[in-house]
Amino acid sequence: MSEVKRKGPRLTKTQRNHFRKVILEKREEAVRQIETKRESFIDSSPGSSQLDSNYAYHMADVGTDAQEREKAFMQYARENKFLTFLDKALDRLENDPDYGYCKECGERIPDERLEEVPHTSHCVKCKSRII
Ligand SMILES: [Zn+2]
Repeated sequence: MSEVKRKGPRLTKTQRNHFRKVILEKREEAVRQIETKRESFIDSSPGSSQLDSNYAYHMADVGTDAQEREKAFMQYARENKFLTFLDKALDRLENDPDYGYCKECGERIPDERLEEVPHTSHCVKCKSRII
């Protein structure tokens, strides 16, 4: 999967359990945010709970307070993306022995950074170099 060999052992079960908890907590928060945001841009269109994102975009464009809705939708989209990242992180945590190590340099990503951004696969140094 990754080009660089990790410079250390796979995270222990205890460490993985810890990060699973961190991810699940963030996930719960993201889901809550998504629910809230979704309500704020579809509340005036009853019966449209099955909006897909394209339709939601459309709604944001034609709505009376289009800007507010668009803002809510952007936040909604961002949280949704974050949720996807978290789900991937959960999957990697279970299945990728390199989880917790930087894909670029192979160094262990510090716990504090993983707790902040558990879905990251780069250390701060490499991340800032890439972007
Ligand atoms: Zn790195």
